[in-house]
Amino acid sequence: MTYKELLYLGEKVLGEADIAEAKNDAWLLLEMLCKIDRNFYYLHMEEAADPVQIREYQQLLKKRAERIPLQYIVGETEFMGLRFRVNSNVLIPRQDTETLVEEALKYAAPGMKVLDLCTGSGCVIISLLHYAPYMQGYGADISKQALLLAKENASLNGVPVHLIAGDLFSRVDGFYDMIVSNPPYIKSADIAGLMPEVRQFEPWEALDGGEDGLAFYRRIIAECPAYLRKGGRLMLEIGCEQGQDVRELLVQADFHEIKILQDLAHNDRVVSAVK
Ligand code: GLN
Repeated sequence: MTYKELLYLGEKVLGEADIAEAKNDAWLLLEMLCKIDRNFYYLHMEEAADPVQIREYQQLLKKRAERIPLQYIVGETEFMGLRFRVNSNVLIPRQDTETLVEEALKYAAPGMKVLDLCTGSGCVIISLLHYAPYMQGYGADISKQALLLAKENASLNGVPVHLIAGDLFSRVDGFYDMIVSNPPYIKSADIAGLMPEVRQFEPWEALDGGEDGLAFYRRIIAECPAYLRKGGRLMLEIGCEQGQDVRELLVQADFHEIKILQDLAHNDRVVSAVK
């Protein structure tokens, strides 16, 4: 079987499994497995692929056809132009979350201490420190497995992040100039209706925001005054319908300069406020 036939097989298998980006995914799996790029492919596509690789490719296709997210199969993804390792212990970094990072970068200043709650893969705090290396970064997560991956991602990207194992602020001490978070925010009852890739393979703890989806915002907003310095900024990623609810929680907790920001698709995505 040639590389060309292999790629065609990939497209067909994934297309039949109703994978939206069948062609793209088939290519990315082939690229990863055979360690080839487009150039190599076009020069050698009529040549026979290695029989071991053919068998391995079929196994990768089978996994993807079972709806395992491509990023978990490949083991990495891109976020803010950086590479992050991912596995089923962490949420796959989303492009939407770049809105949070870009907004936080507008306030970055030398010496600032920044805390990222629910750090997961570490994508938020690590990219903040990559683009603003003069800040000090802390990332907290309840999942020890997630923190292992965040640690790996910090060294992969060459940034020093202090990682804290604990539920939100439970193991945090001191005051921060900025607190950022992309907490779980899906309503519990809505999880069953998500894409199979998400509901079957992404960690439930990283998705479930409780009955109304706002459980983490309530806790973060209630607890953060003890950790955010006066005049410091809290920035939260939100679901596109949660802007007004989160704004109201912030108003009640006496935050000011409350802003709701949109992502590239013009959906409400980030709420930012000053203590
Ligand atoms: N902070 C991580 C991210 O943005 C994880 C978020 C989460 O697990 N809810 O990808």
